[in-house]
Amino acid sequence: MLVLVINAGSSSLKYQLLDTDNEEVLAKGLCERIGIAEPRIKHQPAAKEAYSAVVEMPDHKAAVRHVLDCLTDANHGVIKSLDEIEAVGHRVVHGGERFAQSALISDSVKEAIKDCYPLAMLHNPANMTGILALEEALPEVPQVAVFDTAFHQTMPEEAYMYAIPYEYYKKYAIRRYGFHGTSHKFVAERAAELLERPLSQTNIITCHLGNGSSITAVKGGKSIDTSMGLTPLAGVPMGTRSGDIDPAIVSMLMEDEKLSVEEINNLLNKESGMLGISGVSSDFRDLAEAANEGNQQAQLALDMFAYSVKRYIGAYTAVMGSVHAIVFTAGVGENDSETRENICKGLQRLGVIIDKSLNDGLRGKEAVISSPESKVKVLVIPTNEELAIARDTAELARSSGKVVK
Ligand code: ADP
Repeated sequence: MLVLVINAGSSSLKYQLLDTDNEEVLAKGLCERIGIAEPRIKHQPAAKEAYSAVVEMPDHKAAVRHVLDCLTDANHGVIKSLDEIEAVGHRVVHGGERFAQSALISDSVKEAIKDCYPLAMLHNPANMTGILALEEALPEVPQVAVFDTAFHQTMPEEAYMYAIPYEYYKKYAIRRYGFHGTSHKFVAERAAELLERPLSQTNIITCHLGNGSSITAVKGGKSIDTSMGLTPLAGVPMGTRSGDIDPAIVSMLMEDEKLSVEEINNLLNKESGMLGISGVSSDFRDLAEAANEGNQQAQLALDMFAYSVKRYIGAYTAVMGSVHAIVFTAGVGENDSETRENICKGLQRLGVIIDKSLNDGLRGKEAVISSPESKVKVLVIPTNEELAIARDTAELARSSGKVVK
């Protein structure tokens, strides 16, 4: 089935056209600077030359029109007609407590996504603009929402509640939701395949380490705890996000530095984490380079990151009782062998032993990096959120009865 996967941000729209029968990507691309100066579309067909152009893109509707034009273009297109697109899958960041699974988009689903706006003001409204634009452009095609939070809806109460007055859970739905669910689920399922164990009898710690990072305890295929929280700000320190801090720091800084709510949010989301500690960059490659040249703050940022991930691995080992595998994925997890090694260093007593020769230099490839005597298998598994979205979309589109094939 040909599925168009859409990931709409506030000023960007990423897309992939996939064939779910052979899981091949026909084309992918990105519209950036939507609604601002010099908007651009970058289109990459699988077997043709890439195309990039500055085009008029005042809103997401216009962006979608350019995407569909690119997909059907005589030169850089990959399909003859839009009729060939059989379903559209949308990444939606927040599904609140309503969605434990992906959903075929209907009026009530759209209402529920809107109900989650207060939980994800930066993301859900942007995701919705993508949904509305595609509904208008391809009105006959079934559309599916795939939520970043859905996989974590299996967490037990004691893991997702915050110890603030209970009334705020009732009033504002303040609780841990967790994110990157599509990725954690995808790599956990793949890990069980590689281990040749039934997922239902396998305990896995999945480490999605990228610009944003989260760690999840996956017990028997279900998320039972995860490091991100009500928002993606919680957990380990990230590229520019603080991760877990003492909540009293917020009011103290607001008072002492005379910061507004917007300013403190900006400080914690955009100026903290690896960037804030190092003063150099949020990118792990830059940090490694700076640390090698003797920059101590860059080294400190890297040390803090590895320490924090290690702490979650310890915590989730305790939570699950036993662990069959640890999985590294996303930009840092798939590519940064030094960070993987530093995270696993000292975990021998937990049964985690990395084989340096398997780990060193391994980039972006599926592999086992633990030594044969390691009780816990350590795996690198490239994530593929678009493929996971396309698979769910195809399944739900088929069940909708709107797709004949
Ligand atoms: P996002 O959260 O934006 O999806 P990614 O998963 O793409 O992020 O990860 C991006 C991060 O991965 C970059 O900021 C960079 O720090 C890191 N990264 C990518 N390639 C490498 C590499 N070869 N070595 C170390 N870090 C890398």
